[in-house]
Amino acid sequence: MKSKYDVVVIGAGCIGVSVASHLGEMGCTNVLVIEKEKMIGTGATAKCAGGVRAQFSTPINIHMSHYSINEFEKLDAEYGIQFVQCGYLFVVRTEEQKAQYLRNMEIQKKYGVDVRFVSKDEISKLAPNYGLEKVLGGTFGAKDGLVDPYMMVDAYFKKSRKMNIEFETDMPCTGLKVSSGKITHVVTPRGEIACDYIVNAAGPFAKEIGAFAGVEIPIEPLRRMITTTGALDFISDAFPMVVDVTTGMYMHKEGNGLLIGLANNDEKPGYDETIDNEFLDTMLMTALEVMPYLENAEIKTKYPGTWAGLYETTPDHHSIIDRVPNLNNFIIAGGFSGHGLMHAPAAGQAAAELIVKGKSDTFDLQPVRFSRFAEGDLTVERNVI
Ligand SMILES: Cc1cc2nc3c(=O)[nH]c(=O)nc-3n(C[C@H](O)[C@H](O)[C@H](O)COP(=O)(O)OP(=O)(O)OC[C@H]3O[C@@H](n4cnc5c(N)ncnc54)[C@H](O)[C@@H]3O)c2cc1C
Repeated sequence: MKSKYDVVVIGAGCIGVSVASHLGEMGCTNVLVIEKEKMIGTGATAKCAGGVRAQFSTPINIHMSHYSINEFEKLDAEYGIQFVQCGYLFVVRTEEQKAQYLRNMEIQKKYGVDVRFVSKDEISKLAPNYGLEKVLGGTFGAKDGLVDPYMMVDAYFKKSRKMNIEFETDMPCTGLKVSSGKITHVVTPRGEIACDYIVNAAGPFAKEIGAFAGVEIPIEPLRRMITTTGALDFISDAFPMVVDVTTGMYMHKEGNGLLIGLANNDEKPGYDETIDNEFLDTMLMTALEVMPYLENAEIKTKYPGTWAGLYETTPDHHSIIDRVPNLNNFIIAGGFSGHGLMHAPAAGQAAAELIVKGKSDTFDLQPVRFSRFAEGDLTVERNVI
């Protein structure tokens, strides 16, 4: 490890490794990524469901998805990240939902998303045994799908290492030194590291990193749970990610069975990652509502068949990719609000451009600027799970 780097990236989840790799591709290789855990990619990234979609309601999120899907295709060809384009299906059961999702679809189509409205009949073919009671149809994005979070982190790690970017694990950032409106050093138990820039890629811990420099970052950690089933004979590789708009429950193929997720809307911000058994009961009851067939399925109710992880949520469900005002060499790449894996390639490109070029050429980062919270100028992403 050197005593000075051009960039120190804090956090080696999917965002940190993507930022490092994109910096390297832009010729900035004097980069150190530090990770508090013993291994990289064990935070929110390891807990995530692996979903990738372009079906959002705002242009910035759609644009970031397009960029990322394109990059996932390339990474899959080069590194085998298990990117499967099985599609995302949002199932609607009321006229109000249908109108909302048709409106979303218009925006998506305007920005080039391959999406169409499918009938109840088509849903029964796309997702066999899905409960069809009151179903009015759904929106289906054929290019959406699933990616393996571990393989993706590994791919960016390997790419970064090829460019001699350095990684240190078991190395928490415990402080930041600030002088004349700049971060000068990252403080760690193994000493202080001088740097020209830092990137806060600490995921659900982004707020803590901000606090080291007196910056209040509105990113809150929120527990989210996932459970899985044993083998189910109707599951094929073509089974899409299915989201029940009424309940927010999502399910997709996992091994020979299903992975099932549901947000607890009463969850309070915090770092608790234990399994909430009471809410697990709610998840199972909801799963039976949306897919009654699961009555006969084996549900893996204990870890590792059920687990909890942390979302990193902002008030408007958009990320923050920006410099901190008045602390210009402090870049935030966080707050993805449940979409960090699918937006990691785009986030890496945008953050690297902010450092290397001074601004992003690829994205209009206005909707994800830091100052929007102080300005009260928020555009809420409606299509969140
Ligand atoms: C249950 C669940 C399901 C999800 N499903 C999806 C999905 O289907 N699709 C999708 O796109 N997203 C999904 N997400 C969200 C996605 O997982 C996150 O948005 C994404 O992983 C964030 O990546 P990250 O690199 O910012 O955070 P992390 O993966 O948490 O990485 C941050 C890293 O920073 C490290 N760190 C923290 N503090 C410090 C410190 N002081 N010093 C050094 N290192 C530090 C942490 O140890 C961690 O490794 C899901 C999340 C959960 C919990």
